[in-house]
Amino acid sequence: MATIRRQVAVSESLKLTTPGRVPFSVEFMPPRDDAAEQRLWGAAEAFHDLGVSFVSVTYGAGGSTRERTLRVAEQLATKPLTTLVHMTLVNHTVDEIKELIRNFASVGLTNLLALRGDPPGDPNAEWIPTEGGLLYTSELIELVKSMPECEDFDIGIASFPEGHYRAADLEADTTYTLKKLRAGAEYSITQMFFDIEHYLRLRDRLAAADPEYGTKPIIPGLMPITSLRGVRRQMELAGASLPASLEKRLLAAAAGDEVKNKAAIREVGIEVTTEMAERLIAEGAPDLHFMTMNNVRATQEVLHNLGMAPAWGPGYGHDMVR
Ligand SMILES: Cc1cc2nc3c(=O)[nH]c(=O)nc-3n(C[C@H](O)[C@H](O)[C@H](O)COP(=O)(O)OP(=O)(O)OC[C@H]3O[C@@H](n4cnc5c(N)ncnc54)[C@H](O)[C@@H]3O)c2cc1C
Repeated sequence: MATIRRQVAVSESLKLTTPGRVPFSVEFMPPRDDAAEQRLWGAAEAFHDLGVSFVSVTYGAGGSTRERTLRVAEQLATKPLTTLVHMTLVNHTVDEIKELIRNFASVGLTNLLALRGDPPGDPNAEWIPTEGGLLYTSELIELVKSMPECEDFDIGIASFPEGHYRAADLEADTTYTLKKLRAGAEYSITQMFFDIEHYLRLRDRLAAADPEYGTKPIIPGLMPITSLRGVRRQMELAGASLPASLEKRLLAAAAGDEVKNKAAIREVGIEVTTEMAERLIAEGAPDLHFMTMNNVRATQEVLHNLGMAPAWGPGYGHDMVR
């Protein structure tokens, strides 16, 4: 395996702006099998060529998917791509967490997205901490900050435009998000959302509650809509809402038949994501973070609409990647 060059800190990459262009980043999931892995490498190359600012790799609940996260993140970083590795507290003791973090540090993966994770299987089930483990993400950040081998780590966190679904109210959500930022996180990436007002209100809430730590960059998480069923499912899993006006617009494109009119829904979905991105750029969002599900096409179409990428299709080198 090629060695990883010193990684640019994600919080630094947000400052490396090009005039007329907002940075964009993408989220990948560890692939399930060899064919999915080949597709992922194709997608990684395509996004590399499109000038992605960083790529992130999610962290699952099972042992084998967790190993894949580390292996895939390591390989992405050698491409070279600035690689953000997600990590959660689920089913880990403090000793295991420390060992994992040491593994990241030993290979040079210094960008960490610190998360609590959800109960495996059902995100809405009761969250039961692991014996000898940690309870909240703020504790994970404190732990990383206390480890000498993690001196150059750059830590990000999750934030929630509608408030986290387990938070009592928006005030509690603000308090605990700030706790993570004060513990040493440099930026947050939001849960996906479709109402820009929610993003703007989160930004206002944090800044009003703490002008120093509350103004750290908030990267909006965007999922290009390619199907009605898909977006409903994703929002349900995320404990967030699909605005009624958006559902109406997508339903109108479906004209009563989601299957037959798949292409029309997709077209409107890409249009909606493009409009959101335009508004977020106008509002000064520091980066656009696309939840790609390891696909290129939908994200590239949005980037193309924004004037940030060539059109997807024949003639462009990676048009085999869907
Ligand atoms: C961008 C992004 C990427 C994600 N990637 C992954 C992934 O790769 N793998 C995965 O499994 N999940 C992932 N998730 C989901 C995430 O793990 C869940 O949303 C989880 O429920 C919350 O994680 P957290 O880090 O925000 O938790 P925390 O910050 O620990 O908060 C959890 C809950 O506890 C409350 N809370 C926090 N501190 C305290 C306190 N001191 N006292 C009382 N209450 C408190 C919070 O308000 C919140 O309701 C991701 C989410 C986002 C937005």
